Amino acid sequence: MAIRVRFAPSPTGYLHVGGARTALFNWLLARKQRGVFILRIEDTDKERSSEAMTRAIVEGLRWLGLDWDEGPHHQADGIERHRADARQLLESGAAYRCFCTPEELAAKRAEAEARKERYGYDRRCLRELTPERSAARAAAGERCAIRFRVPEGVTEWNDLVHGPTRFVNAEIDDFIVLRSDGTPTYNLAVVSDDSWMRVTHVIRGDDHLSNTPKQILLYRTLGRPLPEFAHVPMILGPDGRRLSKRHGATSIADHEARGILPWAMVNFLALLGWSPGTDEEVMDVPELITKFSIDRVLKKSSVFDLKKLEWLNAQHMARADAQLLEPLVAPRLAARGLASAEELQARREWYLALIDLLKGRARDLEELAERVRPYVAGVIRYEEEAVGRHWRDGPQVALRLERLTELLADAPWEAAPLEDRLRAFAAELGIPAGKLIHPLRVALTGQAVSPGIFDVLVAMGRERALGRIRDAVCYLRDRFAAGASAPEP
Ligand code: GLU
Repeated sequence: MAIRVRFAPSPTGYLHVGGARTALFNWLLARKQRGVFILRIEDTDKERSSEAMTRAIVEGLRWLGLDWDEGPHHQADGIERHRADARQLLESGAAYRCFCTPEELAAKRAEAEARKERYGYDRRCLRELTPERSAARAAAGERCAIRFRVPEGVTEWNDLVHGPTRFVNAEIDDFIVLRSDGTPTYNLAVVSDDSWMRVTHVIRGDDHLSNTPKQILLYRTLGRPLPEFAHVPMILGPDGRRLSKRHGATSIADHEARGILPWAMVNFLALLGWSPGTDEEVMDVPELITKFSIDRVLKKSSVFDLKKLEWLNAQHMARADAQLLEPLVAPRLAARGLASAEELQARREWYLALIDLLKGRARDLEELAERVRPYVAGVIRYEEEAVGRHWRDGPQVALRLERLTELLADAPWEAAPLEDRLRAFAAELGIPAGKLIHPLRVALTGQAVSPGIFDVLVAMGRERALGRIRDAVCYLRDRFAAGASAPEP
């Protein structure tokens, strides 16, 4: 039988790293085992759920490439089925009506707390009301909730991540399954939906561990087949506390905005709580599908390491085909006013070659777009740090650069002859080539780092490159004529 798994987010917030990781583990298992991945939006809490969040979650999953085979189902659409399940529990005597008001319950909770005791519902409505009396009060229109009567004993299961897990039922309160306003609680709705959707594996965060015995009790009482359960470890911030906003960007959309590649994000998320069992860390999606297994999901929580995400992203950028990166970087070039869609189209081959040249040095797409700037912008800004490091002797640099423009002007515009001319000039001056290359790099790009300088010259083209060097000469003359000196490095 094909496995059926689901991702069941509540649309009360954006798709965050933890949710996306849960979705990914479900998706990887479904794809690996040729099963079914279901998306279910758990929107029964009308007050906290919103359409905008549902859209954001759906967009986040789409961006990551986690496609679903069924859904999105909306939990709120199943409310009649949830109520029918609550009735079944009530009619079989497994649940009972509770007429206690929120005020009464709050008072009892406060008393228990004052006595420093664990609060649990005292079963007053079970003890004091006969089924007939309870039915009569409900028929008279009195508001009531429905509580599940937790049986004695222990509830155990073999968790696919945590192994044998057991809860003593005496420690589980008679929990509400249907609120007095007729809405189901999470535990009832989830069991009702998971059994109706024939979910075979429930994979979710281990913050739900204590809900599982309640759900197992409901499955058994309703006479539905139990799924397997796998509770995946929490994700922590670098300070060891549960990952939250205080640790910076936790929403998937934030990482998308800064230019993380979706498949790098998927690689990173996969390693949050799962180990492939080898040292290999950079993996593409098909590889992850092949290698993924629940057996290798770790029990202990994992730490969200932004540096690692950036490193993985840089690895994926360097490996990616320029054709794949181009549509992702295009909107960022347009936003900077560097290249419109038409310009990109008109000089596509040139742009693809440029992306190939630059992709190895960028941590994300924003950085990649920024690195395109010197190759297309009219004027550039010289980074102070680069100026301080390589243009300290301004007048001398200006002289050398000026001479270099003359030497390069009629060279065939290819890496090898350009290199020959520059090295010959360095030899003539009796200085190492680096003494020319570094100042030249600042002149061309404004920065102290770039791809190999001769590739930069070629990519920039003769006219733009020579113009850039002349601009630098003028800049240096102005700056040093004005008596200013380069800042200390
Ligand atoms: N809506 C629940 C949540 O977002 C789903 C938990 C589950 O997978 O059962 O935490």
